[in-house]
Amino acid sequence: MITRTPPLWHTADWQKSLARAIRDPRELLATLQLPDSLLAGADAAGQDFPLLVPRGYVARMRVGDPQDPLLRQVLPLEAEGLPAPGYVADPVGDLSAMARPGVLHKYHGRALVVATGACGIHCRYCFRRHFPYTRANPMPERWQQVRDYLLADESIEELILSGGDPLSLADHRLAGLLEAVQNVPHLKRVRLHTRYPVILPERLTGDLLGLLSALPQQVILVIHANHANEIDANVRQVLVPWRQAGITLLNQAVLLRGVNDSESALAGLSEALFAAGVLPYYLHQLDPVQGAAHFAVDDSRARTLETALRNRLPGYLVPRLVREQAGAPAKTPLV
Ligand SMILES: *Cc1c(COP(=O)(O)O)cnc(C)c1O
Ligand code: SF4
Repeated sequence: MITRTPPLWHTADWQKSLARAIRDPRELLATLQLPDSLLAGADAAGQDFPLLVPRGYVARMRVGDPQDPLLRQVLPLEAEGLPAPGYVADPVGDLSAMARPGVLHKYHGRALVVATGACGIHCRYCFRRHFPYTRANPMPERWQQVRDYLLADESIEELILSGGDPLSLADHRLAGLLEAVQNVPHLKRVRLHTRYPVILPERLTGDLLGLLSALPQQVILVIHANHANEIDANVRQVLVPWRQAGITLLNQAVLLRGVNDSESALAGLSEALFAAGVLPYYLHQLDPVQGAAHFAVDDSRARTLETALRNRLPGYLVPRLVREQAGAPAKTPLV
């Protein structure tokens, strides 16, 4: 039997991978041997939210298949420009929940920081694709404000780092934020929501793990995988030391038409996650953000899929099917 030592990644590796990511629809289509007829739509839809996809993620796509579930998440399509009533720029009421610039405080005990607007991939269904990051970004010089906000409210026990993708920040930036908040006495947990473990696993360097495991708080890493094909051997390997360090690994997925809207795709995702040491947490109904209507799955179909999963899998592999509703005190269950 061949045993493979997990690769030890360094900062230069992920920064290089990110710099080499594909940004030109022509190159993506050529790499995957897809027809030029997709180009006009990709160019048009990429105008205000451009294509961005790391090569390592493209390598997990099937060549020659325009319906590939990973490709569908990143390829700008003409359909994004079609009018869709009810699909708006701020579908979840983020702007009215902003307690301080970049600090969203919607739910009891949890404050969420939009740590950066940058991502390592551009997901076409993203509910923050129109988020005014330049206006709402806390920025390093304002991290003291985040600390003051947390200190002033003893009910906040969990800090959630979101974005954009918080792991787009260089380690020293992240360290600055964590340093500002680590001695808030009532803070028990720090949670990161990130797609990097899936889209660019080399981001999970030993240095980053060192930084997070040194925190006095419990750390939770919520990875965002939507399909089993996203979870390859690199993803599984890179998560091993994180698990060993006692970090809780959870997954949040979005229910997406043409990506994972079948019983087999969702069951396959849960199985692949568990094999990587990750528990499924949420399955989100799509937020009705402008440009994403073609990904919508209707509620009755979503419930049917949830029931099928519940009848097929152990309970711990069935994610909670929820929707985010502006102004609600928690994510709203559909079942
Ligand atoms: C989704 C979300 C959370 C986290 O909710 P959980 O149910 O704890 O996962 C916290 N704050 C905001 C603003 C959110 O949108
Ligand atoms: S990584 Fe997250 S925040 Fe960034 S584009 Fe994708 S869904 Fe949106």
